Amino acid sequence: MSLSFDPDTIPLPVGHFIGGQLISGEGAIEMHRPSDGKSYAACPAAGADMVDRAVESAKAALKASNWGGVRPRERTKALQAWADLIEAEAETLARIEALCSTRPVGQLVAGDIAVTAEQIRFFAEFADKEGSELVPTDDASLGMIISEPYGVVGAITPWNFPISMAGWKLGPALAAGNAVVLKPSEMTPFSTVYMAQLAVRAGLPAGLINVVLGDGPTTGTALTGHPDIAKVSFTGSTRAGSAIMENVARTGVKPMTLELGGKSPQIVFADADLDKAAAAIAGSVTFNAGQACVAGTRLIVERSVTDRLTVAILERMKAARPGATWEEATQYSPIISERQRVRVDGIVQAAVAAGGECLTGGGVMDHPGYFYQPTLIAGVSQDNPAIVEEIFGPVLTVQTFETEEEALALSSHPIYGLASGLFTADLSRTIRFARRLEAGTVWVNRYSRSRDHILPTGGYKRSGIGKDLGREAYLANRRTKSVLITL
Ligand code: NAD
Repeated sequence: MSLSFDPDTIPLPVGHFIGGQLISGEGAIEMHRPSDGKSYAACPAAGADMVDRAVESAKAALKASNWGGVRPRERTKALQAWADLIEAEAETLARIEALCSTRPVGQLVAGDIAVTAEQIRFFAEFADKEGSELVPTDDASLGMIISEPYGVVGAITPWNFPISMAGWKLGPALAAGNAVVLKPSEMTPFSTVYMAQLAVRAGLPAGLINVVLGDGPTTGTALTGHPDIAKVSFTGSTRAGSAIMENVARTGVKPMTLELGGKSPQIVFADADLDKAAAAIAGSVTFNAGQACVAGTRLIVERSVTDRLTVAILERMKAARPGATWEEATQYSPIISERQRVRVDGIVQAAVAAGGECLTGGGVMDHPGYFYQPTLIAGVSQDNPAIVEEIFGPVLTVQTFETEEEALALSSHPIYGLASGLFTADLSRTIRFARRLEAGTVWVNRYSRSRDHILPTGGYKRSGIGKDLGREAYLANRRTKSVLITL
């Protein structure tokens, strides 16, 4: 059956989801479909009272279900059932996501949704494999490190991959025995609400996942500053991450996982397989129209192969065809909003004014919706706006080098250190470079995640604190207590 659909016919779960109930709130934030700009809903905005209600619901659910204290395998089984239902309902979930966000429906079922279900199962499996331990002491004592959940985790997610980001937050927090109050982006909240509804249908205690809708300054601030939120887990911009740190410092002290912005380099040496490199590099800035935290937006290429590589990348970028996210064949996404498209264009024009040359693109696409041309900018210095700013659009810059030291110097960004790509056939150079690159992830001869969820993801510098995915993400959702008993 075709996944394509008529966007005017899809019912949306518009409301907060608290204690297992959909609570319709006053629509406060007008929402537009990125694929055609049509206004389609109003996102309710939770004030402090609604956030408080969600936190109380989470606390009550923890108490009634003893979620943090049951045999861990019970959590594993419940989360597996949720993952199974997410897969069974993948088409409905995909349609909600594709209607509201920049994610094409044809990429969701086997992509974002299948991977999210797999990641929930991955975290579910930690529940009975990581925990308390006895430690060596003298024989008159018994030492223990007791591992415990935090209680209620406050999570906040961005709009670029709403289902995946919800999975990254909910999977480890729930497996580790916590309840969650999650605030998705006010631009793309409904797929998260639907995932929470599926959790209750799959048998998870009502109130374990609560979703509050609203913007950052009001709803987000009320959530991160709530005294009964024991831990904050955030993915979004570095600007918002700083604001959250300030708010948490002002209102209390609590641990935080922050997954923030990036400006990731892709370094290509002359000995690399240039065709493969071109496909990976072009793919990384055209996938979701470059709206990925790890988008490899700065190409740094050895001078002798610059022309060959650039031509191969240009060919691929020029092949991108815009299409509505509700058409199954669509591969190239719109920008999330007109405001964001204006911002992308503003940085591109500033880059050109500062001496950059657009080899392709550099403007909006002649198509309904918020599409922007894949853009390649050459002739940029290290202080060019297109090198400094996280653009969050389909924009790639190209710079050249002759020595390894030069490549390394160009790849370093003053603020960001999220991901990086390295293309070379030289193993020694790979190891040398991987050790010296200041980034939380180094992909070599590829530029994308695999399904090896054991690999943690997170940033160096102001790209973040802590990790999503991997064992680290699970452990970050538990705290330890030292117990020493004199026998
Ligand atoms: P954003 O920071 O504007 O918003 C993200 C979320 O934070 C939204 O839910 C928003 O409502 C909320 N928010 C904003 N200000 C807040 C505040 N003061 N207090 C509490 N919550 C607040 O980011 P965005 O535009 O939605 O997403 C794009 C950004 O997310 C990019 O910078 C991108 O790099 C980053 N991102 C990072 C990762 C990662 O893993 N490092 C993954 C995806 C996106």
